[in-house]
Amino acid sequence: AAKAEGRACYRFYNEEMNARSIEELKMEEELREAMRADQLELRYQPQIEVSTGRVISMEALVRWKHPVRGIISPGLFIPVAERTGLIIELGSWVLAEVARDCLHWDSLNVPPFRVGINISPLQFNQPNLTSYIGDVLSSSGLSPERIELELTESAIMTDAETNIEKLQELKALGLALAVDDFGTGYSSLNYLRRFPIDTLKIDQSFVMGLNSTDGAAIVDAILALAKTLNMRSIAEGIETAEQLRYLAQRGCDYLQGYYFARPLYPEDVPGILQQDFSVDIQRAMNGRTELH
Ligand code: C2E
Ligand code: MG
Ligand code: MG
Ligand code: MG
Repeated sequence: AAKAEGRACYRFYNEEMNARSIEELKMEEELREAMRADQLELRYQPQIEVSTGRVISMEALVRWKHPVRGIISPGLFIPVAERTGLIIELGSWVLAEVARDCLHWDSLNVPPFRVGINISPLQFNQPNLTSYIGDVLSSSGLSPERIELELTESAIMTDAETNIEKLQELKALGLALAVDDFGTGYSSLNYLRRFPIDTLKIDQSFVMGLNSTDGAAIVDAILALAKTLNMRSIAEGIETAEQLRYLAQRGCDYLQGYYFARPLYPEDVPGILQQDFSVDIQRAMNGRTELH
């Protein structure tokens, strides 16, 4: 019976794997076509400086406008793009598109701000990443100071010793560097200290966990670490006044989340830069609701 069961399990597993890879092959083919057919779009989500209430930067987030399925979120196709290598081409498109959008805003005399670009592990591991980014930016005419790369913890901590040099190159180009989803991977504090990182980006799972004592303690620890290492701190996924209040009181420098704004169409970016969120921040700070 055990043997039969084992075989049944095996077959089930096999079929599921098969179905998954067929699904993935299909998506890979469609994604390739999507890039040819111009079906990718960017949204920009504001990052607010707590001390001033102003939008100081935006994160570029890719969307796939599928002709049949509608808008597909990156959580569904980025992992496929990463596994199939398509992320390299997709990442190139994102960088070029961000440069185009920034130059367009410049032409409208929109005050310059920084844009965060997500770099996947496979992209980060490209040997020519620095020169590639340098070439794209210099040929478009956009200053590297306008870009912050969001790198994942696992990408930079794998082979940390060799990455020091790579990060220094990117930094020397003039780019700002952030560690995205900080706290969800494994970081060697020793390397973190030696890396030229500007920003620690607290993962939204910790912001969601703020209503527990442990969750709040983790956020406190990350904020203390950022302060010690002279890095900026930003928290993502702020949805409530209570989360805002906790993070602002604890000295988090920047905030990003639906509470302030969703990822916006490029045409809505100039408008949000005019907005002053200091009243919203003050109101949240004066609130009475307790997190825990
Ligand atoms: P991420 O870099 O951690 O981006 C933050 C995600 O949180 C975004 O999801 C954003 O829309 C979402 N978010 C922002 N505020 C809130 C909030 O208040 N509540 C909740 N529940 N969510 C919020 P999105 O746009 O679906 O992107 C998901 C992930 O896909 C990103 O996570 C990033 O890892 C990846 N991604 C997006 N665009 C790109 C890209 O151009 N290149 C690469 N390599 N990855 C990308
Ligand atoms: Mg990010
Ligand atoms: Mg993140
Ligand atoms: Mg995240």
